[in-house]
Amino acid sequence: MNHPAPSFGSRKSGGSGRSGPSGEARAGEARATSGVAAALRALDVRPSRRLGQNFLTDPRVAERIAAVALDSVPAAATTSPGGEGAILEIGPGLGALAERLAASGRPFAAVELDLRLAEHIETLLHPHPNARVVRGDILDQRLESLLPGDGPVTVVANLPYVITSPAIEWIVNQGPRVKRAILMTQREVAQRLAAKPGTKEYGSFSVFVALHAETRVEFRVSPGAFHPRPDVDSVLFTLTPRPYPGTSAEERAAVERLVRAATGGRRKTLANSLGHGLGMGADAARALLERAGIDPGRRAETLSVDDWLRVARAEGGAA
Ligand code: SAM
Repeated sequence: MNHPAPSFGSRKSGGSGRSGPSGEARAGEARATSGVAAALRALDVRPSRRLGQNFLTDPRVAERIAAVALDSVPAAATTSPGGEGAILEIGPGLGALAERLAASGRPFAAVELDLRLAEHIETLLHPHPNARVVRGDILDQRLESLLPGDGPVTVVANLPYVITSPAIEWIVNQGPRVKRAILMTQREVAQRLAAKPGTKEYGSFSVFVALHAETRVEFRVSPGAFHPRPDVDSVLFTLTPRPYPGTSAEERAAVERLVRAATGGRRKTLANSLGHGLGMGADAARALLERAGIDPGRRAETLSVDDWLRVARAEGGAA
């Protein structure tokens, strides 16, 4: 399933326009921000939008994220170096989270696409023999190469917005070793994850995530915790991969295929969009939807996961 990032908006740099923190908080924020800005200057890195580089500047927020992440794998699972209780960070940046996570002593891998930052992180994590840094795009990696073994893994990321949906897709596609992902995204993304059918936030991404995981919002983070400062609030949430209850892998794949077919074009009714997307024509799609007990005049974005499952099962039964 392909969920284009632009539909989920972007973290833009620049002022947020919302009412700001107190004078004291602002002074602390300015100090932290200038520290990050100086570190970036020293590395000759200008924050890149293309790489979604909004670096965490607030150490209290970093501490809270690390606490959520380190709690999420049972301590008993941390002893084996073969990947047990391991942590994978996507995009460690300057290391706001990486240093705290590596210091836990658990097997730790961090994948960073920006080579200057990867080199910096390697130096930073040098004192931690449990840590390794991989240079490259997370979407090109395989979990078993990053963290060999079959033990549980927690994924942690302040996600670059440009890869929000593919990264979440990558995480759920890594199979049962990934027990939890602790992810920071812009607030709108978290709203899409929790959206109800028929609302403007609900879409193919909401269906995809519901098919493969449960999500829970942990806390909200204001734009002042990042440099450059994004326009919008961010949210930390926990994503727990699990198959949608009572479904087979084939059914979940069928729902993905149906949703992709129905949401690709501009056609308004389900019968038309599905008929076109599946190449079966509107009449056959209408018959399929009627067999599933779904009104063919509905719009695709009003169907719940259970509705899609009824369509997938009606289609399977007719095959
Ligand atoms: N974790 C750091 C923090 O919280 O301050 C940095 C977070 S910043 C939002 C995203 C990071 O992901 C940047 O360091 C960026 O270079 C990196 N990045 C962007 N695209 C990536 C990709 N496809 N694979 C791995 N890292 C990526």
